Amino acid sequence: MSTTPNGILKPLQLSCTSTDCTNNLHCFQLSRRLLRLGPAGRCRDCGVQLIDWARVHRRNATDVTYTFEALRYELIRHHFWHIPLSDYAINYARRKGALALKPAARKQVENAVGSPIHPAQGRQTPRETNPKATAIHYAQHATACCCRKCLEEWHGIPAGRHLTTDEIDYLTNLVMLYVSARTPDLSDESVHIPKRRPPSTSSQGLQPQTELQHAS
Ligand SMILES: [Zn+2]
Ligand SMILES: [Zn+2]
Repeated sequence: MSTTPNGILKPLQLSCTSTDCTNNLHCFQLSRRLLRLGPAGRCRDCGVQLIDWARVHRRNATDVTYTFEALRYELIRHHFWHIPLSDYAINYARRKGALALKPAARKQVENAVGSPIHPAQGRQTPRETNPKATAIHYAQHATACCCRKCLEEWHGIPAGRHLTTDEIDYLTNLVMLYVSARTPDLSDESVHIPKRRPPSTSSQGLQPQTELQHAS
């Protein structure tokens, strides 16, 4: 990834294939070409094998602690686990409350990755640079529920078929765990606080120039 001369990371330039291997932050997403060159599951830059993929791909709801730990070895996920959520994203979550957020998260997961086909595949989930990114969008990137490539890599779900109800339930649960962990004062019920507008009101036609472009 790119760094300034004094070594400070420039997070906004992060893509899903960025790495910072010297700080133990990798990328396990391999193109077909890279797969031909070595074993699956390794870091595309340094080759390290850190993840028990069989364990993660079991999608066991009682083993999410391990899954979350594993996800954070990938630089792009680590980024989404550590950046502060925008005021807009937090406001969105608190105004809904956890009980109403869950069906919203489920719907969002279903819309983004439920079908194998999406017109903006790889860019369907807004990034933190999009003023309208909600806590659910942050969660999707952090938990690899953002596009079918990430789903295949991290959850072992083949990209060419529809998700099952169980799979959508599992992924929604991951999203909700992230949102609860990262949203201070999230209560079950809706909190009556003023609605926040996205920072830029002229963002109506904002196009995903800043969204995650996944490697092919
Ligand atoms: Zn690496
Ligand atoms: Zn993705």
